[in-house]
Amino acid sequence: MNKVIPVKKNDDIELYIDAFGSEGQGVGRYKGFIVFVAGAIDGEVVKAHIIKTTKNYAIGKLIGVVSPSEHRIAPECEYARLCGGCSLQHVDYEHQLDIKRRHVADAFERIGGFKGVEIGMTIASPDIRRYRNKASFPAAQVDGRIQLGLYAFNSHRLIPINDCMIQHSSAIAVKNAVERWANEYGVTAFDETKKSGELRHVMVRVSTAGDVMAAIVTRGKLNRKEELIALLTENVAGIKSIIHNINCRDTNVILGNDYETIWGSDTIPETICGKTFNVSAASFLQVNPKQTEKLYTLALEKANISDADTVADVYCGIGTISLMAADKAKRVIGIEEIERAIIDARANAFANGVENAEFICAKAEEALPKLVDGGLAPDCVILDPPRKGCDEAVLDAIVKSGVRRVCYVSCNPSTLARDCRLLCDAGFELISVDPIDMFPWTNHVETVVLMTKMDKIK
Ligand code: SAH
Repeated sequence: MNKVIPVKKNDDIELYIDAFGSEGQGVGRYKGFIVFVAGAIDGEVVKAHIIKTTKNYAIGKLIGVVSPSEHRIAPECEYARLCGGCSLQHVDYEHQLDIKRRHVADAFERIGGFKGVEIGMTIASPDIRRYRNKASFPAAQVDGRIQLGLYAFNSHRLIPINDCMIQHSSAIAVKNAVERWANEYGVTAFDETKKSGELRHVMVRVSTAGDVMAAIVTRGKLNRKEELIALLTENVAGIKSIIHNINCRDTNVILGNDYETIWGSDTIPETICGKTFNVSAASFLQVNPKQTEKLYTLALEKANISDADTVADVYCGIGTISLMAADKAKRVIGIEEIERAIIDARANAFANGVENAEFICAKAEEALPKLVDGGLAPDCVILDPPRKGCDEAVLDAIVKSGVRRVCYVSCNPSTLARDCRLLCDAGFELISVDPIDMFPWTNHVETVVLMTKMDKIK
Protein backbone atom coordinates (compact mmCIF):
# COMPACT_ATOMS: atom_id res chain seq x y z
CA MET A 1 0.00 0.00 0.00
CA ASN A 2 1.34 3.42 -0.87
CA LYS A 3 1.84 5.81 1.97
CA VAL A 4 -0.34 8.92 1.71
CA ILE A 5 1.77 12.04 1.56
CA PRO A 6 -0.20 14.73 3.38
CA VAL A 7 1.65 17.74 1.87
CA LYS A 8 2.49 18.87 -1.61
CA LYS A 9 4.77 21.48 -3.12
CA ASN A 10 3.73 25.10 -2.44
CA ASP A 11 1.49 24.20 0.52
CA ASP A 12 1.77 26.47 3.54
CA ILE A 13 1.53 24.48 6.75
CA GLU A 14 1.79 25.03 10.49
CA LEU A 15 4.03 22.56 12.22
CA TYR A 16 5.37 21.65 15.68
CA ILE A 17 9.14 21.11 15.60
CA ASP A 18 10.30 18.35 17.89
CA ALA A 19 13.86 17.52 16.83
CA PHE A 20 16.93 18.57 14.90
CA GLY A 21 18.23 17.07 11.66
CA SER A 22 21.91 16.32 11.12
CA GLU A 23 22.35 19.50 9.08
CA GLY A 24 20.95 21.69 11.86
CA GLN A 25 17.42 21.91 10.44
CA GLY A 26 14.33 21.67 12.62
CA VAL A 27 12.33 18.48 12.16
CA GLY A 28 8.59 18.17 12.66
CA ARG A 29 5.84 15.73 11.78
CA TYR A 30 2.88 16.98 9.78
CA LYS A 31 0.07 14.43 10.11
CA GLY A 32 2.83 11.94 10.90
CA PHE A 33 4.94 12.87 7.85
CA ILE A 34 8.48 14.20 8.40
CA VAL A 35 9.13 17.81 7.38
CA PHE A 36 12.56 19.47 7.60
CA VAL A 37 12.58 23.22 8.16
CA ALA A 38 15.94 25.04 8.21
CA GLY A 39 15.99 27.85 10.75
CA ALA A 40 13.36 26.27 13.03
CA ILE A 41 14.13 25.17 16.61
CA ASP A 42 12.76 22.20 18.54
CA GLY A 43 9.83 23.24 20.74
CA GLU A 44 8.60 25.84 18.23
CA VAL A 45 5.42 26.00 16.20
CA VAL A 46 6.39 27.40 12.80
CA LYS A 47 4.83 28.20 9.47
CA ALA A 48 6.54 26.56 6.53
CA HIS A 49 6.15 26.75 2.77
CA ILE A 50 6.71 23.30 1.23
CA ILE A 51 9.38 23.49 -1.45
CA LYS A 52 10.01 19.79 -2.02
CA THR A 53 8.43 16.45 -1.23
CA THR A 54 9.82 12.94 -1.52
CA LYS A 55 8.35 9.57 -0.56
CA ASN A 56 9.68 9.80 2.96
CA TYR A 57 9.90 13.46 3.85
CA ALA A 58 9.23 17.04 2.79
CA ILE A 59 11.33 20.18 2.94
CA GLY A 60 9.72 23.40 4.08
CA LYS A 61 11.00 26.97 3.97
CA LEU A 62 10.52 28.83 7.23
CA ILE A 63 8.02 31.65 6.65
CA GLY A 64 7.02 32.45 10.22
CA VAL A 65 7.53 31.48 13.85
CA VAL A 66 4.18 31.15 15.64
CA SER A 67 5.60 30.36 19.09
CA PRO A 68 9.34 31.02 19.35
CA SER A 69 11.70 28.89 21.41
CA GLU A 70 13.30 30.49 24.47
CA HIS A 71 16.59 29.58 22.77
CA ARG A 72 15.88 31.68 19.67
CA ILE A 73 18.26 34.62 19.25
CA ALA A 74 18.75 37.26 16.56
CA PRO A 75 21.67 36.11 14.36
CA GLU A 76 24.81 38.18 14.86
CA CYS A 77 25.88 37.57 11.28
CA GLU A 78 24.24 39.50 8.47
CA TYR A 79 24.71 36.54 6.09
CA ALA A 80 23.11 34.06 8.50
CA ARG A 81 20.36 32.63 6.30
CA LEU A 82 22.34 33.16 3.07
CA CYS A 83 25.70 31.57 3.73
CA GLY A 84 25.88 27.78 4.06
CA GLY A 85 28.47 27.90 6.83
CA CYS A 86 26.66 28.47 10.13
CA SER A 87 23.25 26.81 10.27
CA LEU A 88 22.69 27.53 14.00
CA GLN A 89 23.04 31.33 14.00
CA HIS A 90 19.50 31.63 15.39
CA VAL A 91 20.13 29.34 18.40
CA ASP A 92 21.74 30.40 21.71
CA TYR A 93 25.07 28.77 22.47
CA GLU A 94 23.91 26.58 25.34
CA HIS A 95 21.22 25.06 23.17
CA GLN A 96 23.71 24.52 20.32
CA LEU A 97 25.68 22.32 22.72
CA ASP A 98 22.55 20.39 23.64
CA ILE A 99 21.61 19.89 19.97
CA LYS A 100 25.08 18.48 19.27
CA ARG A 101 24.87 16.08 22.19
CA ARG A 102 21.52 14.82 20.93
CA HIS A 103 22.93 14.49 17.43
CA VAL A 104 25.66 12.17 18.74
CA ALA A 105 23.17 10.22 20.91
CA ASP A 106 20.91 9.79 17.91
CA ALA A 107 23.72 8.43 15.73
CA PHE A 108 24.73 5.89 18.40
CA GLU A 109 21.16 4.72 18.80
CA ARG A 110 20.01 4.72 15.20
CA ILE A 111 23.15 3.97 13.22
CA GLY A 112 25.18 2.11 15.82
CA GLY A 113 22.21 0.25 17.29
CA PHE A 114 23.45 1.00 20.83
CA LYS A 115 20.84 1.17 23.56
CA GLY A 116 20.93 3.68 26.38
CA VAL A 117 24.50 4.90 25.77
CA GLU A 118 25.54 7.62 28.19
CA ILE A 119 26.72 10.62 26.23
CA GLY A 120 28.74 13.31 28.03
CA MET A 121 27.67 16.96 27.95
CA THR A 122 29.12 18.70 24.90
CA ILE A 123 32.32 20.46 25.95
CA ALA A 124 31.93 24.16 25.14
CA SER A 125 34.43 26.08 23.03
CA PRO A 126 36.34 28.80 24.96
CA ASP A 127 35.99 31.13 21.95
CA ILE A 128 32.78 31.26 19.98
CA ARG A 129 33.69 34.21 17.77
CA ARG A 130 36.73 34.48 15.47
CA TYR A 131 37.76 31.02 16.63
CA ARG A 132 38.85 29.61 13.26
CA ASN A 133 42.50 29.47 12.22
CA LYS A 134 41.73 28.56 8.61
CA ALA A 135 39.52 30.14 5.95
CA SER A 136 38.77 29.20 2.35
CA PHE A 137 37.14 31.83 0.22
CA PRO A 138 35.98 30.86 -3.28
CA ALA A 139 36.15 33.50 -6.03
CA ALA A 140 33.49 34.47 -8.54
CA GLN A 141 32.50 37.31 -10.81
CA VAL A 142 29.52 38.96 -9.05
CA ASP A 143 27.96 42.28 -10.15
CA GLY A 144 30.82 42.99 -12.54
CA ARG A 145 33.54 42.57 -9.89
CA ILE A 146 35.64 39.69 -8.72
CA GLN A 147 34.51 38.84 -5.24
CA LEU A 148 35.64 36.35 -2.65
CA GLY A 149 33.07 35.00 -0.24
CA LEU A 150 31.38 31.86 0.97
CA TYR A 151 29.02 29.44 -0.73
CA ALA A 152 25.28 29.34 -0.10
CA PHE A 153 23.96 26.19 1.57
CA ASN A 154 24.44 23.06 -0.57
CA SER A 155 25.42 25.11 -3.60
CA HIS A 156 28.28 26.81 -5.39
CA ARG A 157 26.50 30.16 -5.54
CA LEU A 158 28.88 32.76 -4.10
CA ILE A 159 27.73 34.97 -1.25
CA PRO A 160 30.13 37.95 -1.18
CA ILE A 161 31.01 38.94 2.39
CA ASN A 162 32.58 41.90 4.18
CA ASP A 163 33.31 39.96 7.34
CA CYS A 164 32.74 36.55 8.94
CA MET A 165 32.22 36.34 12.70
CA ILE A 166 34.03 33.02 13.07
CA GLN A 167 37.13 34.02 11.08
CA HIS A 168 40.24 35.85 12.25
CA SER A 169 40.45 39.49 11.14
CA SER A 170 43.70 38.64 9.28
CA ALA A 171 41.79 36.16 7.10
CA ILE A 172 39.45 38.99 6.14
CA ALA A 173 42.45 41.26 5.45
CA VAL A 174 43.86 38.64 3.05
CA LYS A 175 40.49 38.31 1.34
CA ASN A 176 40.24 42.08 0.86
CA ALA A 177 43.81 42.39 -0.48
CA VAL A 178 43.33 39.57 -3.00
CA GLU A 179 40.01 41.01 -4.16
CA ARG A 180 41.68 44.37 -4.71
CA TRP A 181 44.54 42.76 -6.61
CA ALA A 182 42.22 40.75 -8.85
CA ASN A 183 40.05 43.73 -9.71
CA GLU A 184 42.92 46.19 -10.19
CA TYR A 185 44.92 43.91 -12.47
CA GLY A 186 42.15 42.25 -14.44
CA VAL A 187 42.64 38.75 -13.03
CA THR A 188 39.58 36.70 -13.96
CA ALA A 189 37.62 34.45 -11.62
CA PHE A 190 37.31 30.76 -12.45
CA ASP A 191 33.89 29.88 -13.79
CA GLU A 192 32.93 26.27 -13.04
CA THR A 193 30.38 25.94 -15.82
CA LYS A 194 32.37 27.62 -18.58
CA LYS A 195 35.68 26.21 -17.29
CA SER A 196 37.28 29.58 -17.91
CA GLY A 197 38.98 32.20 -15.75
CA GLU A 198 41.89 31.91 -13.36
CA LEU A 199 41.36 32.67 -9.67
CA ARG A 200 39.59 29.80 -7.85
CA HIS A 201 40.12 30.17 -4.11
CA VAL A 202 42.09 31.89 -1.43
CA MET A 203 43.01 29.78 1.59
CA VAL A 204 44.27 31.49 4.73
CA ARG A 205 45.81 30.06 7.89
CA VAL A 206 46.39 32.22 10.97
CA SER A 207 48.37 30.86 13.92
CA THR A 208 47.66 31.62 17.57
CA ALA A 209 50.63 34.00 17.56
CA GLY A 210 49.16 35.83 14.54
CA ASP A 211 51.41 34.44 11.78
CA VAL A 212 49.56 34.33 8.47
CA MET A 213 49.81 32.03 5.45
CA ALA A 214 47.90 32.96 2.27
CA ALA A 215 47.49 30.36 -0.48
CA ILE A 216 46.22 31.63 -3.82
CA VAL A 217 44.64 28.87 -5.89
CA THR A 218 44.47 29.38 -9.65
CA ARG A 219 43.71 27.19 -12.61
CA GLY A 220 47.09 27.84 -14.22
CA LYS A 221 49.93 30.35 -14.30
CA LEU A 222 49.89 33.20 -11.77
CA ASN A 223 49.96 36.57 -13.48
CA ARG A 224 50.78 39.81 -11.65
CA LYS A 225 52.62 37.91 -8.94
CA GLU A 226 54.72 40.87 -7.77
CA GLU A 227 51.65 43.08 -7.41
CA LEU A 228 49.91 40.37 -5.37
CA ILE A 229 52.88 40.00 -3.04
CA ALA A 230 53.08 43.79 -2.61
CA LEU A 231 49.39 44.11 -1.74
CA LEU A 232 49.48 41.22 0.74
CA THR A 233 52.67 42.26 2.50
CA GLU A 234 51.51 45.88 2.77
CA ASN A 235 48.01 45.10 4.01
CA VAL A 236 48.18 41.96 6.13
CA ALA A 237 49.83 42.19 9.54
CA GLY A 238 51.73 39.01 10.43
CA ILE A 239 52.01 37.65 6.89
CA LYS A 240 54.80 35.05 6.82
CA SER A 241 54.04 32.88 3.84
CA ILE A 242 52.46 33.30 0.40
CA ILE A 243 51.84 30.14 -1.56
CA HIS A 244 50.66 29.71 -5.12
CA ASN A 245 48.69 26.53 -5.67
CA ILE A 246 47.60 25.27 -9.07
CA ASN A 247 44.37 23.35 -9.30
CA CYS A 248 43.45 22.64 -12.92
CA ARG A 249 41.11 19.76 -12.10
CA ASP A 250 37.37 19.64 -12.44
CA THR A 251 36.74 19.01 -8.76
CA ASN A 252 35.27 20.31 -5.52
CA VAL A 253 38.61 19.87 -3.80
CA ILE A 254 40.05 23.31 -3.08
CA LEU A 255 43.78 22.71 -3.41
CA GLY A 256 45.59 21.06 -6.31
CA ASN A 257 48.84 19.13 -5.99
CA ASP A 258 51.18 21.88 -7.23
CA TYR A 259 52.50 24.22 -4.55
CA GLU A 260 55.03 27.03 -4.91
CA THR A 261 56.10 29.32 -2.12
CA ILE A 262 56.23 32.71 -3.85
CA TRP A 263 57.12 34.74 -0.76
CA GLY A 264 58.27 33.94 2.79
CA SER A 265 58.33 30.45 4.28
CA ASP A 266 56.73 27.13 3.25
CA THR A 267 55.14 26.63 6.67
CA ILE A 268 53.95 28.66 9.66
CA PRO A 269 54.56 27.55 13.24
CA GLU A 270 51.73 26.78 15.66
CA THR A 271 52.03 25.91 19.34
CA ILE A 272 49.67 23.24 20.66
CA CYS A 273 49.85 22.01 24.26
CA GLY A 274 53.38 23.41 24.58
CA LYS A 275 54.74 21.80 21.41
CA THR A 276 55.59 23.61 18.20
CA PHE A 277 54.26 22.34 14.90
CA ASN A 278 55.15 23.56 11.45
CA VAL A 279 52.05 23.62 9.28
CA SER A 280 52.05 23.58 5.46
CA ALA A 281 49.24 24.65 3.18
CA ALA A 282 48.49 21.00 2.35
CA SER A 283 48.41 19.63 5.88
CA PHE A 284 45.42 19.09 8.09
CA LEU A 285 45.25 21.07 11.32
CA GLN A 286 42.27 21.30 13.67
CA VAL A 287 40.61 24.68 13.04
CA ASN A 288 39.80 25.86 16.58
CA PRO A 289 43.16 26.16 18.40
CA LYS A 290 42.01 26.63 22.02
CA GLN A 291 39.49 23.83 21.72
CA THR A 292 42.10 21.62 20.02
CA GLU A 293 44.08 21.66 23.25
CA LYS A 294 41.01 20.48 25.15
CA LEU A 295 40.32 17.81 22.50
CA TYR A 296 43.84 16.39 22.58
CA THR A 297 44.02 16.55 26.39
CA LEU A 298 40.74 14.63 26.61
CA ALA A 299 41.80 12.07 24.00
CA LEU A 300 45.09 11.42 25.79
CA GLU A 301 43.41 11.22 29.16
CA LYS A 302 41.08 8.56 27.74
CA ALA A 303 43.96 6.74 26.03
CA ASN A 304 45.62 6.48 29.48
CA ILE A 305 49.06 5.74 28.02
CA SER A 306 51.88 4.45 30.22
CA ASP A 307 55.62 4.35 29.58
CA ALA A 308 55.67 0.71 28.52
CA ASP A 309 53.03 1.25 25.83
CA THR A 310 53.28 1.09 22.07
CA VAL A 311 50.73 3.43 20.50
CA ALA A 312 49.48 3.54 16.90
CA ASP A 313 48.19 6.99 15.91
CA VAL A 314 46.23 6.22 12.77
CA TYR A 315 45.36 9.19 10.50
CA CYS A 316 48.01 11.24 12.32
CA GLY A 317 48.25 14.34 10.09
CA ILE A 318 51.32 16.39 11.06
CA GLY A 319 51.77 14.27 14.20
CA THR A 320 50.00 16.49 16.72
CA ILE A 321 48.50 13.68 18.81
CA SER A 322 51.48 11.39 18.13
CA LEU A 323 53.97 13.79 19.69
CA MET A 324 51.83 14.32 22.76
CA ALA A 325 51.37 10.56 23.10
CA ALA A 326 55.13 10.09 22.69
CA ASP A 327 55.72 12.00 25.96
CA LYS A 328 53.96 9.18 27.80
CA ALA A 329 54.55 6.11 25.64
CA LYS A 330 57.52 3.87 24.89
CA ARG A 331 56.93 4.03 21.15
CA VAL A 332 54.48 5.78 18.83
CA ILE A 333 53.79 4.92 15.21
CA GLY A 334 51.92 7.53 13.18
CA ILE A 335 50.22 6.63 9.89
CA GLU A 336 49.09 9.26 7.38
CA GLU A 337 48.58 9.30 3.62
CA ILE A 338 49.60 12.88 2.75
CA GLU A 339 53.32 12.99 2.11
CA ARG A 340 53.70 16.65 3.00
CA ALA A 341 52.02 16.04 6.38
CA ILE A 342 54.46 13.18 7.08
CA ILE A 343 57.42 15.41 6.20
CA ASP A 344 56.02 17.99 8.65
CA ALA A 345 55.39 15.27 11.27
CA ARG A 346 58.99 14.04 11.13
CA ALA A 347 60.34 17.61 11.27
CA ASN A 348 57.98 18.37 14.15
CA ALA A 349 59.21 15.32 16.08
CA PHE A 350 62.81 16.41 15.56
CA ALA A 351 62.14 20.05 16.49
CA ASN A 352 60.42 19.00 19.71
CA GLY A 353 63.17 16.54 20.64
CA VAL A 354 60.83 13.54 20.33
CA GLU A 355 62.82 10.39 19.55
CA ASN A 356 60.29 7.63 20.11
CA ALA A 357 57.83 8.52 17.34
CA GLU A 358 58.08 7.17 13.79
CA PHE A 359 55.87 8.05 10.86
CA ILE A 360 54.66 5.99 7.95
CA CYS A 361 53.34 7.62 4.80
CA ALA A 362 50.64 5.27 3.51
CA LYS A 363 46.95 4.65 3.43
CA ALA A 364 45.88 3.40 6.85
CA GLU A 365 43.93 0.53 5.29
CA GLU A 366 47.13 -0.71 3.68
CA ALA A 367 49.71 0.10 6.35
CA LEU A 368 47.95 -1.07 9.52
CA PRO A 369 47.04 -4.59 8.31
CA LYS A 370 50.65 -5.03 7.11
CA LEU A 371 52.08 -3.86 10.42
CA VAL A 372 49.78 -6.19 12.36
CA ASP A 373 50.63 -9.12 10.08
CA GLY A 374 54.28 -8.26 10.72
CA GLY A 375 53.75 -8.65 14.47
CA LEU A 376 52.80 -5.16 15.68
CA ALA A 377 50.71 -5.53 18.86
CA PRO A 378 49.92 -2.01 20.10
CA ASP A 379 48.71 -1.33 23.63
CA CYS A 380 46.59 1.54 22.41
CA VAL A 381 45.27 2.69 19.04
CA ILE A 382 44.23 6.28 18.43
CA LEU A 383 41.96 6.85 15.44
CA ASP A 384 41.19 10.26 13.95
CA PRO A 385 39.89 9.61 10.43
CA PRO A 386 38.29 12.05 7.96
CA ARG A 387 34.47 12.31 7.74
CA LYS A 388 34.02 9.04 5.92
CA GLY A 389 35.36 7.16 8.95
CA CYS A 390 37.64 4.11 8.99
CA ASP A 391 38.02 1.64 6.21
CA GLU A 392 36.91 -1.82 7.36
CA ALA A 393 40.44 -3.11 6.78
CA VAL A 394 41.62 -0.72 9.52
CA LEU A 395 38.99 -1.96 11.97
CA ASP A 396 39.73 -5.60 11.11
CA ALA A 397 43.44 -5.01 11.69
CA ILE A 398 42.65 -3.43 15.07
CA VAL A 399 40.68 -6.50 16.10
CA LYS A 400 43.39 -8.83 14.84
CA SER A 401 46.16 -6.90 16.61
CA GLY A 402 44.78 -7.82 20.03
CA VAL A 403 44.86 -4.17 21.18
CA ARG A 404 42.70 -3.52 24.25
CA ARG A 405 42.29 0.25 24.17
CA VAL A 406 41.00 2.27 21.24
CA CYS A 407 40.50 6.02 21.47
CA TYR A 408 38.48 7.26 18.50
CA VAL A 409 38.34 10.98 17.64
CA SER A 410 35.73 11.74 15.01
CA CYS A 411 34.17 14.70 13.23
CA ASN A 412 31.22 12.64 11.96
CA PRO A 413 28.86 10.96 14.45
CA SER A 414 27.33 8.71 11.76
CA THR A 415 30.52 7.01 10.63
CA LEU A 416 31.77 6.99 14.22
CA ALA A 417 28.69 5.08 15.40
CA ARG A 418 28.98 2.68 12.46
CA ASP A 419 32.65 1.93 13.23
CA CYS A 420 32.03 1.58 16.99
CA ARG A 421 29.33 -0.98 16.23
CA LEU A 422 31.80 -3.02 14.21
CA LEU A 423 34.41 -2.94 16.99
CA CYS A 424 31.85 -3.68 19.69
CA ASP A 425 30.58 -6.66 17.71
CA ALA A 426 34.17 -7.88 17.73
CA GLY A 427 34.42 -7.75 21.52
CA PHE A 428 35.10 -4.11 22.43
CA GLU A 429 33.03 -2.28 24.99
CA LEU A 430 31.98 1.34 24.68
CA ILE A 431 33.35 3.08 27.78
CA SER A 432 32.75 6.78 27.11
CA VAL A 433 31.36 9.08 24.43
CA ASP A 434 32.17 12.78 24.79
CA PRO A 435 31.04 15.37 22.25
CA ILE A 436 33.24 18.46 22.03
CA ASP A 437 32.32 21.61 20.17
CA MET A 438 35.07 22.58 17.74
CA PHE A 439 32.70 24.53 15.47
CA PRO A 440 30.31 26.95 17.27
CA TRP A 441 27.31 28.18 15.19
CA THR A 442 27.61 25.26 12.76
CA ASN A 443 25.88 21.88 13.02
CA HIS A 444 29.22 20.06 13.19
CA VAL A 445 30.44 18.23 16.26
CA GLU A 446 33.60 16.38 17.21
CA THR A 447 33.42 13.32 19.50
CA VAL A 448 35.97 11.41 21.57
CA VAL A 449 35.13 7.76 22.24
CA LEU A 450 36.97 5.25 24.40
CA MET A 451 36.52 1.56 23.74
CA THR A 452 38.24 -1.23 25.64
CA LYS A 453 38.39 -4.95 25.32
CA MET A 454 38.22 -7.16 28.35
CA ASP A 455 40.33 -10.28 28.75
CA LYS A 456 38.75 -13.34 27.24
CA ILE A 457 37.67 -15.82 29.91
CA LYS A 458 39.65 -18.94 29.29
N1 SAH B 1 45.13 13.50 13.98
C1 SAH B 1 45.45 14.62 13.14
C2 SAH B 1 44.78 14.61 11.78
C3 SAH B 1 43.32 14.22 11.73
S1 SAH B 1 42.49 14.59 10.21
C4 SAH B 1 45.15 15.93 13.87
O1 SAH B 1 44.45 15.95 14.87
O2 SAH B 1 45.64 16.96 13.42
C5 SAH B 1 42.54 13.11 9.32
C6 SAH B 1 43.85 12.86 8.62
O3 SAH B 1 43.72 11.62 7.94
C7 SAH B 1 44.25 13.87 7.57
O4 SAH B 1 45.54 14.30 7.83
C8 SAH B 1 44.17 13.09 6.24
O5 SAH B 1 45.15 13.49 5.32
C9 SAH B 1 44.41 11.68 6.70
N2 SAH B 1 43.85 10.60 5.87
C10 SAH B 1 42.69 10.60 5.17
N3 SAH B 1 42.45 9.41 4.62
C11 SAH B 1 43.49 8.60 4.97
C12 SAH B 1 43.82 7.22 4.73
N4 SAH B 1 43.03 6.46 3.99
N5 SAH B 1 44.96 6.75 5.25
C13 SAH B 1 45.77 7.52 6.02
N6 SAH B 1 45.51 8.83 6.28
C14 SAH B 1 44.38 9.37 5.77
